[in-house]
Amino acid sequence: MDISKYKIDHNSDLKLSGIKTDQTGQFDSKEDAEKKLVENVQRMTEIQSKLYAQDKYAVLIIFQAMDTAGKDGAIKHVMSGLNPQGTHVHSFKQPSVEELDHDYLWRATKNLPERGLIGIFNRSYYEDVLVVRVHDLIKNQQIPDEFITENIWKDRFRQIRDYERYLFENGIVTIKFFLHISKETQKERLLDRIDDKAKNWKFSAADLTERQYWDDYQRYYQDAINETSTKQAPWYVIPADKKWFARLMISEVIVKTMESLNLEYPTISKQQEEVLKGCKQKLMESKS
Ligand code: ATP
Ligand code: MG
Repeated sequence: MDISKYKIDHNSDLKLSGIKTDQTGQFDSKEDAEKKLVENVQRMTEIQSKLYAQDKYAVLIIFQAMDTAGKDGAIKHVMSGLNPQGTHVHSFKQPSVEELDHDYLWRATKNLPERGLIGIFNRSYYEDVLVVRVHDLIKNQQIPDEFITENIWKDRFRQIRDYERYLFENGIVTIKFFLHISKETQKERLLDRIDDKAKNWKFSAADLTERQYWDDYQRYYQDAINETSTKQAPWYVIPADKKWFARLMISEVIVKTMESLNLEYPTISKQQEEVLKGCKQKLMESKS
C-alpha cells in the first residue's frame, strides 16, 4: 500500500478541499481491509516488543479531527493488539487552571511517552492553533501582550516545528494524523447519535455549535498541516468517511514508520554471554 499518497510535504500548498474524504484506495470491500488490519496489528505488536526491549526510541502518535471523525474508534482498533503496558493514551481537553498557568506545550511534555513506549495523543497541542484560533481564545492564555501580535500563529507553527524537531533528535518519533471527513458525513453521524439510543451518550450539543465553524476549522487545519508537516514529524491526511479504510491506513503508516527505525532486540557482549553460561551451569548443578 502506498502511504506516500497521504503524506503531506512541508509547505506543499495542501488544499483539504482537494482531498476526497470517501477514498478507499485499492480496497473494494471492508472484509479485505479488515484482514489486512489484523496483519498490521500483529506486525505492530512484534515491533512494539523490540521498541520496548531496545529502550531508546519512543513513538508519539497524534490524532486530530473534527468531531465524529472517528478518533476514538481508530485508537481502539489500531491499538487493540498492543501490549497495554507499552502504550499510553492521553486526551487533551479544555485546559485546566493549572494548565493555563503554563506555556501551551507544558501539558504535552508532561504526557510524552517514555523510551520504549508508544504514546497516543487524542487531540494535542495542535488545539492551540485550531480551536484557540477559531474562537480567539489566545487572550485567555495569560501570554504577555507583547507576544500577542498578528504573527502569533506563524510564531506558534515555528515553535511547534522546533519542538517536534527537538523530540525527533531525542529519539521521540512523531506521527500525526488528520482524519478527514466531509461535512455531510458528520451530519449523518450526528443524526445517528441522536436516533440510535445506544449512541445517545456520544452526542454532545456542543458538537453542533462547533459544526457552525466548519469552514474556519478546515482553513486553520489546512494552514497548520502545511506549516508543520516536516520530515521529522510528517502529517498524514487520512480519508475517513469509511472508518474501515481510515483504520487500515493508520495502521499501515504506523507499521511503515516503525519498520523504518530498523529496531532489533539488543544483543549481549561475549563477556555477558559467559556470565549467562556460568549462571546456567550453577542452576543445572543446584539440587532443586
Ligand atoms: P469525544 O467527544 O469523542 O469524547 P473529544 O476529543 O471531542 O472526544 P471533548 O471532551 O468532547 O473530547 O472535547 C474536548 C474539547 O476540548 C474539544 O472541543 C477541544 O477543541 C477542546 N480543547 C482542547 N484543547 C484546547 C485548548 N488548548 N483550548 C481550548 N479548547 C481546547
Ligand atoms: Mg467531543
